[in-house]
Amino acid sequence: MAKRATAKRQASRSSKTNPKALSPNPKSRKHVYFFGGGKADGNRHMKDLLGGKGSGLAEMTNAGLPVPPGFTISTEVCNIYYQQKGKIPPAIDREIAANVKRLEKTAGPTLGSTENPLLVSVRSGAKFSMPGMMDTILNLGLNDDSVEGLKRRTQNGRFAFDSYRRFIQMFGNVVLEIPKEAFEHEVEAVKKASGAKLDTDLDEAALRDVVARYKAVVSKRAKREFPQDPHEQLTMARDAVFRSWMNARAIEYRRIYDIPDHIGTAVNVQMMVFGNTGDRSATGVGFTRNPATGAKEFYGEFLINAQGEDVVAGIRTPQPIRELERVMPKAYKQLRQITTRLERHYKDVQDFEFTIQDEQLFMLQTRSGKRTGYAAVVIATDLVAEKLVTPKEAVLLVDPDALDQLLAPGFDPDEWKKIPVATKGLPASPGAASGQVVFTADQAVEWTEQGKQVILVRRETVPDDIHGMFVAQGILTATGGMTSHAAVVGRQMGKPSVVGAGDLEINEGRKQFRVKGQTVKEGDYISFNGLTGEVKIARVASKPSEILQVVDGALAPEKSDIYRRFETLLTWADKFRRLGVYANADLPDQAALAYAFGARGIGLCRTEHMFFGEGRIPIVQRMILAETEADRRKALDELLPLQRDDFYGVFKAMRGCPVTIRTIDPPLHEFLPKREELMVEVARLEAAGSDGRELDDKRRLLQRVEQLHEFNPMLGHRGVRLGITYPEITEMQTRAIIEAACRLNREGVTIVPEIMIPLVGLAKELRDQKAIVDRIAVEAMKAQGTRIKYLVGTMIEVPRGSLAAGEIAQDAEFFSFGTNDMTQLTFGFSRDDAGKFLKIYQEKKILEKDPFASIDVEGVGALVRIGVERGRKTRPTLKIGICGEHGGDAASIHFFHQAGLNYVSASPYRVPAARLAAAQAALAVRVGD
Ligand code: PEP
Ligand code: MG
Repeated sequence: MAKRATAKRQASRSSKTNPKALSPNPKSRKHVYFFGGGKADGNRHMKDLLGGKGSGLAEMTNAGLPVPPGFTISTEVCNIYYQQKGKIPPAIDREIAANVKRLEKTAGPTLGSTENPLLVSVRSGAKFSMPGMMDTILNLGLNDDSVEGLKRRTQNGRFAFDSYRRFIQMFGNVVLEIPKEAFEHEVEAVKKASGAKLDTDLDEAALRDVVARYKAVVSKRAKREFPQDPHEQLTMARDAVFRSWMNARAIEYRRIYDIPDHIGTAVNVQMMVFGNTGDRSATGVGFTRNPATGAKEFYGEFLINAQGEDVVAGIRTPQPIRELERVMPKAYKQLRQITTRLERHYKDVQDFEFTIQDEQLFMLQTRSGKRTGYAAVVIATDLVAEKLVTPKEAVLLVDPDALDQLLAPGFDPDEWKKIPVATKGLPASPGAASGQVVFTADQAVEWTEQGKQVILVRRETVPDDIHGMFVAQGILTATGGMTSHAAVVGRQMGKPSVVGAGDLEINEGRKQFRVKGQTVKEGDYISFNGLTGEVKIARVASKPSEILQVVDGALAPEKSDIYRRFETLLTWADKFRRLGVYANADLPDQAALAYAFGARGIGLCRTEHMFFGEGRIPIVQRMILAETEADRRKALDELLPLQRDDFYGVFKAMRGCPVTIRTIDPPLHEFLPKREELMVEVARLEAAGSDGRELDDKRRLLQRVEQLHEFNPMLGHRGVRLGITYPEITEMQTRAIIEAACRLNREGVTIVPEIMIPLVGLAKELRDQKAIVDRIAVEAMKAQGTRIKYLVGTMIEVPRGSLAAGEIAQDAEFFSFGTNDMTQLTFGFSRDDAGKFLKIYQEKKILEKDPFASIDVEGVGALVRIGVERGRKTRPTLKIGICGEHGGDAASIHFFHQAGLNYVSASPYRVPAARLAAAQAALAVRVGD
């Protein structure tokens, strides 16, 4: 099942259709948006311009919540920065300076003051959250003088110098690009000299020493002194955040999540509040509901005496938020009230960040919480039950791709029980994962490319691990909490993850870990359950998901809460969608599965797939190798009853829904032995001196295979061209279809088969085939003594088909766009070979997406639109669908909805996602808003 994460692909569409929303316009009046003192320039609807974080801060400020004041430099400025090769026009600089003044006025302290210095954070914030991918700078505004001011104001010299050295390190690393280790080396030296074990053991004098050493590192490595002017610090930090939009991991993240590059990031400059001033301060993150299971419980973690980055980085394992009630009851109560209000206001689960400075609560962020597919369905249905949202709103809360996670397998409980639990970590993202242990992201990628299934085991993950996390079966970490990087990213990817498994002693250098006396080496198998956190040292077979068990009839629907919720959500979706959802299915069991998932039609039955059934290949080969029509007919006579039974099975499984059966399509040589292999065999037999029948047969076969050999089979003797050159194949298939339908009709199920001719580009091709179909249908119905209705139509999958759609529609009673071939032929990219270069095309940004996965709206989409328009001009009631792979892709479904198609046809497992995406398309959602 495709695991591509696609939550954001709608963004590129919505921004493309509304270019004004994002195009940088240096002349537009406003580029900086203030928030503070109970009022903000922006609001929640300005994510395009302010990013998610900036619009959330504005909205919270307007709602009167305790938010430290600040301002947001818009995403347009990011684009200007890139367009003007790293320069910001003076007018924008002046606007920023004016906002700094306003901030000082609102907040009280002044940037660089030796009495009461203002410290700010400088953070990235794009429209879509990209956890940890871009850069952040804290404590900006400190210098050799203002640090003394901070000491005086807080009466805490240790805190002041600790803040300063953190700032120099962050600034040095992010802005001046000095490796972190250069700083760590110095702090270790001071620790050693003063006998301190932890950073927190360092006193003010030691920290002054660290600051001096850090400044020396900057001077040596950056070939300049550490900037003392806070305004210069701010400009440099702002530009570094803009640059981080284009760092390798951010680009990779956007590629995975289909976030377009051109939307840019905003920069938020905000007054610092401190969670690290002592034991009456804390910092934390949380969710209004459990993001892994969806349960309605206040959920999160915090650290006493810490800065925000410490929680997310997963370096210290934080405490569960319930503990906060015990240690700071007043702040806890206020936090609960505020977050409940935020959930009601945004009508969705909120993911928030807070800091408590000397028992005073500040909200630093709120946004819709990322959640697993499982949690998404639970939350959407709960919110309706709680009357917080309507079913229509609930349908918009679930990303269609997230439904994949609900269909993913779990472990067989009996198998699982047999193996002892090696350790238990935090259940960060549900799902069963089993695979071979690897310790680095690069190796995860390398081994996966070799066809292995791997589990990425790390002490903690960092944003640079994203490529390895993406390919791994699951992620296991030794440290970090439920909101650590591994947990957040794992959940978002729908990747089973267990984090904070503290018993693991990982030795990356030796490529092994130890757990409770056992040593596990690279390549050994482990398994874990992301819903319970249990880890086992073994390979464990997995089992179909609960939903699949219900669909297969192995579990009663009443016994599965998640199935009932899934079904409820999709039933709501069905009410809002206009597009029909069909399935591509070739065999009766696939059709039954598709029906159970809600497909109400088959959009494509590839009849040649039936030829691969047991014992059929020799008959098919005889048909192909026949030198005369009479011999071919003999083989076809043998195939007839087999195909008839197959069709009957598919019709029956669909209980009277439309079934589209395509006549034979692929090049015939696909059914024959490979030419090279035959040559080797002939040579072998000749060398062995064999001159018997076997050698004769092989030689004859080779000769025929050579006759059929094509240089370019995809463009060769396939599709309608087969039916035209061998009409008896179309005859046999038509007969099988009509006889099967007659039989079912006699049994009381009315079925209207739709006979589809592939690869038509000329109206006369279809006319030729339709004449055969009609003649045989009449004959077959007469012989059966039953009359049925049937339709004859065509696939539109060669560009000429779209262009000639007006004429083709004179004969075609329906169209189905074959967007796989249409993409291949429009781009001239071979479907089978494009993988080799498409990756590089995407890396070089020549193409944003793989056009075989998500429809190329400008090119292939234009041909679809032409086909629809010309076809319907001839035949206004023409039924039009799409049966290429794009039929299961959410962004493509939005396009097909807009193009006025009647239905999309997707693989059975994608049917639920297609139902949801079709509803969202009808509700014209802009995902992420
Ligand atoms: C297509 O080309 O889109 C299609 C559905 O047909 P096939 O993939 O079988 O060529
Ligand atoms: Mg095709």
